[in-house]
Amino acid sequence: MRVEVDHDQCESNALCMGRAPEVFEVRDDDFLYLLTEEPSPELHEKVRQAERLCPKRAITVHG
Ligand code: SF4
Repeated sequence: MRVEVDHDQCESNALCMGRAPEVFEVRDDDFLYLLTEEPSPELHEKVRQAERLCPKRAITVHG
């Protein structure tokens, strides 16, 4: 699995972090940081849920 975030679309509302904080982190500077582009298998379902939760459709999951 490979994760991409479209930072032009992201509004830093942290919904993805709420679901998968191992992968998505909104920091004090109000930017979203992708902690890993290739999450380990046990995180895949959470990452897919985060993708579906994102109201801006800023998360794309490949594989
Ligand atoms: S859920 Fe979407 S809009 Fe919100 S912080 Fe995550 S990527 Fe950005």
